Amino acid sequence: MINKKINELVTAMTLEEKAALCTGDSPWTTTAVERLGIPRLIMSDGPHGVRRVKDLYQIASESFPATCFPTAACLASSWDKDLIHEVGVAIGEECNTLDVGVVLGPGNNMKRSPLCGRNFEYFSEDPYLSGELSSSIINGIQSQGVGTSLKHFAANNQEFQRFTMSSDLDERTFHEIYLPAFEKAVKEAKPWTVMCSYNRINGTFASESYPLLTEILKKDWGFEGLVVSDWGAVRDRVAGLKAGMDLEMPGPKDRRVQSVIDAVQSGDLSEEALNESVRRILTIAFKSAQTPKGKAFDKDVHHALARKAAGEGTVLLKNNGILPLQHPKNIAIIGRSAKEPHFQGGGSSYINVTQKDIPFDEIQKLVPNAQLSYAEGYTSGLETQPSLIDEAVSVAKTSEVTIIFVALPSIIESEGYDRSNLDLTPQQVSLIQAVTTVQPNTIVILNNSSAIDMRAWLDGTAAVLESYMMGQAGGGAIADILFGKVNPSGKLAETFPQRLEDTPAYFNFPGDNGHVRYGEGIFIGYRYYDSKQIPVQFPFGYGLSYTSFAYSNLGVSTKTIIDKDGLEVSVDITNTGNLAGKEIVQLYVHDKESKLVRPLKELKGFVKVSLQPSETKTVTMPLDFRSFAYYHPSYKQWIAEDGDFEILIGASATDIRLKETVTVKSSMQLPSLLNRDSTLKEWLEDSRGHQVIAPVAENMAKQMGAALGADEGQEGIGMDMMTFLMDLPLLSIFHFQDKMLQRSPEEEVDSLLNQVR
Ligand code: BGC
Repeated sequence: MINKKINELVTAMTLEEKAALCTGDSPWTTTAVERLGIPRLIMSDGPHGVRRVKDLYQIASESFPATCFPTAACLASSWDKDLIHEVGVAIGEECNTLDVGVVLGPGNNMKRSPLCGRNFEYFSEDPYLSGELSSSIINGIQSQGVGTSLKHFAANNQEFQRFTMSSDLDERTFHEIYLPAFEKAVKEAKPWTVMCSYNRINGTFASESYPLLTEILKKDWGFEGLVVSDWGAVRDRVAGLKAGMDLEMPGPKDRRVQSVIDAVQSGDLSEEALNESVRRILTIAFKSAQTPKGKAFDKDVHHALARKAAGEGTVLLKNNGILPLQHPKNIAIIGRSAKEPHFQGGGSSYINVTQKDIPFDEIQKLVPNAQLSYAEGYTSGLETQPSLIDEAVSVAKTSEVTIIFVALPSIIESEGYDRSNLDLTPQQVSLIQAVTTVQPNTIVILNNSSAIDMRAWLDGTAAVLESYMMGQAGGGAIADILFGKVNPSGKLAETFPQRLEDTPAYFNFPGDNGHVRYGEGIFIGYRYYDSKQIPVQFPFGYGLSYTSFAYSNLGVSTKTIIDKDGLEVSVDITNTGNLAGKEIVQLYVHDKESKLVRPLKELKGFVKVSLQPSETKTVTMPLDFRSFAYYHPSYKQWIAEDGDFEILIGASATDIRLKETVTVKSSMQLPSLLNRDSTLKEWLEDSRGHQVIAPVAENMAKQMGAALGADEGQEGIGMDMMTFLMDLPLLSIFHFQDKMLQRSPEEEVDSLLNQVR
């Protein structure tokens, strides 16, 4: 029915109307066509709350109050799909109140380097985790009849020169690391829109990439929504339409519209290509128009949800037993962000909040009888002010417990620019050092976007909480954790390395001369630290609790599987402490042997389980074909090889508690990859090639040895002849034996190749 109506409209629209529809009518809306009853679609940022500007005809005007939920970095540390879905539902409700049809998010890019200024808007360094969590929030938002815009597609992993930079990466890395989170979300949650990124990918703008937008996204993954440009990402409007970039934002842009009309009239752009984009835009505009708008949302309920989410997303990194605090009477609260909380990142996602929790006040509310003292400690910028440190030290000295709130200033990290190091500001480092010298009972609370180098001060602290940019209710959530109202259960969705120099992209971030080379390939995050055995500060998947958990009874539904059948893994988790708590159980897969190099292990499942003291629950995690597969650039597809795989169950990437081995049988009929350049070894390793070449190989080795003057079994020229031969292309070996052959070496190899194809 809808399709029929859309097709009729496409027929009824003039070329001018169609061209106009493909570029915004304002910075935030599509073009309505009143004579045909075509409604406009309103879009707003995102992603962790609604930034609905009051004046849709201005790119940046004041926005209506909305709930600022924790940013993706914090939400991701909850590893809680149901909670993230709930946050999505709340954002969807607010969109309906504020008359928004599509919210611009979630961000689903990989945290390639902790330096990326926009890491607060992204979930993880792991594509599986990102894909699962972004699907949850999309499903939540879209359950309210509101669309999402999955962004920034693709390989947009830094802010430096993000409008032009070419992300140069190989095909396998692209498919295995930078596409799967998008793929999962597109296939499992069907976002109404996908936002293409600003950057180039191997030289081509994402907004002009036919392979990316049409072949991969629309054809391979079956994406049915519309592709919108990031705001200002379009260079050549006509090239964009040819590539499958449906809607240019922001608008209006009369010259762009005219260029589309001209291109259709001159035959440069087929009208069918334009119609395809028009159909996609109309479908979403009408879908959005079906959702009733205007119903008020409950601000208090959403604020309470934001508090719960911030609590679940906060990670307890260190605790010498001081937490939860046991009724201290005299508490020093230090740090400007205790009174001026830093709970969201700068840029397009900046929310005009409905209310905000002040950490200092929230603490006082929870312990009304305790005496709180305060010192600012540092300014909002980069100034060094020793007097502020002196003041903090004197306040800390006389306290029973000191809590330092440390927030990285927005001059250091934000949308639009990257960090240049992993450090707190010099003033903040000196502050923590000075305070912990006089007060060992010091707890540090961090509000930042991504990993921090803590080597200069960690040892002196009693406890550290990573709260990220925790949303408007983060202050209350921190108080809940400090005093044990909430038992912390967050775990890092990214590695905290020891030093910037240890990070995988160290030599290749943020690039230069217009190019950033993804030289670390598939080895990002824990995939790199694990494989290189580089010690880290806090590993991926790490986080402490006020209770403890035991892992037992790892079971697999079958020990031998056909790849596509998958299997189910179960494990018992017991709360062995005295407090109720939640554990995030992680499943990694290790491929014992593979033809192409693979990371030591990769996350393929996780569960968050809630347990009373002494309670045991069995959790299950399914594994499927993709859990064992990797992307093979020569086959141009995901393949799972025959062989043994270890199932590793861990409390973090470096804390593996249980293991089991399963054997996988590949169900794939793969074509032979042998060609004229294949080496003798490759022939012998190929199942069909082996049959053809094995009989001649031995003979060949002997002849070759004789030709070079070696006696049988001797090293005539100081080398092992067989090892040498193994790595030579068969064609080259035949060239050495040219005189003995009946036909040319090329004909010999081609005739053998014919037998394996
Ligand atoms: C950002 C997007 C955002 C858009 C609209 C761009 O600069 O990269 O994430 O949705 O602006 O504000």
